[in-house]
Parts: sequence; C-alpha cells; structure tokens
Amino acid sequence: MSQAANDQTTDAGWITHSPEETFAIATQLGARLRGGEVLLLDGELGAGKTVFVKGLAAALGFDVDEVTSPSFTLVNRYDARLTLYHLDLYRLPDGAGAAHAVDLEELLTDERAVIVIEWGARLGAYPLPAQKTWRINLTGDGDDPRLITLRNE
Ligand code: ADP
Ligand code: MG
Repeated sequence: MSQAANDQTTDAGWITHSPEETFAIATQLGARLRGGEVLLLDGELGAGKTVFVKGLAAALGFDVDEVTSPSFTLVNRYDARLTLYHLDLYRLPDGAGAAHAVDLEELLTDERAVIVIEWGARLGAYPLPAQKTWRINLTGDGDDPRLITLRNE
C-alpha cells in the first residue's frame, strides 16, 4: 500500500461473488500492510465488512476464528506481526463523539498498529493520517455480488 510518487488519489475496485473471494482480496491487501495504516470500511449491514477484516487478520498472522464483530465491545485488539485494532462504530453517534468513545487518538499513536474501522464514515472529518488512510466501500448484500472499492486519501 505504498503511496504513488505523484501523490495522486489511488482508486481500485473488485467484484466478488462469495465471502471466500472477499476474504481473499482482503488477504492480498493485508499482506501489504506495514503498520500505521487506517482502513475505513463502509457498506450496509451484511455487506461483508467483518468478512473483509477476517481476511486482513489472516494476512497478518491471526487466528481468523478469534475475529468477531466488535459491535458491542467497540474495539477488539489482536497481536501478531503487527497489532490490529478492529473497531465498529455502528452503535455510536457520528463525528468526534465516535472517535472519542473508542479513544481513537490514543490508538493512532501506535505506529506498529493497523486500525480497521467498520462504519468508518461515521468519523466524518475527524483528522486521520494523510496518505496512510484508505477508504474501502463494499456494496451489495444477500447473495448479490459485492463491489469493493479502495481509495487512498
Ligand atoms: P458486515 O460486517 O458488513 O455487516 P458480515 O461480514 O458480518 O457483514 O457478513 C456478510 C455476510 O454476507 C456473510 O454472511 C457472508 O457469508 C455473506 N456474503 C455473501 N456473499 C458475499 C460476498 N461476495 N462477500 C462477502 N460476504 C458475502
Ligand atoms: Mg460487521
């Protein structure tokens, strides 16, 4: 996930037809993580955000079965090659209140950590690390294919 030298916004997209395919795309991206990245995941309930996080976690060397949705705990922490903080803002108010509730400022000081945030759009304009923040959108639900897009900010 290195930034292009010319600093242009990077866009990429995939269509997946199964949870396994979504998992595999996330695994490929996860292998490129070095620490310090923030991944904002958005998409409706059932779009596959948690499936995606499981793929990231697999790439980072975690036991995927330990990855569960932090809908109630708000933050799950997994430690391996890097630390992975897995956040879910679904139950939180939009904006700085959500960031405060999960103590995001503190998590951002950990340069060996990757932070992945389900419902990341709820952070609004909360300041995040330039060039190390990625917006990942998943569209589609049920048995429909998913469109996954990746954008670097
Ligand atoms: P979210 O975290 O976005 O609410 P989950 O990852 O918990 O969603 O659940 C996604 C559900 O959709 C799972 O039950 C998964 O098996 C199913 N699914 C069907 N097709 C796909 C696909 N192409 N990609 C991801 N998940 C899919
Ligand atoms: Mg989820």
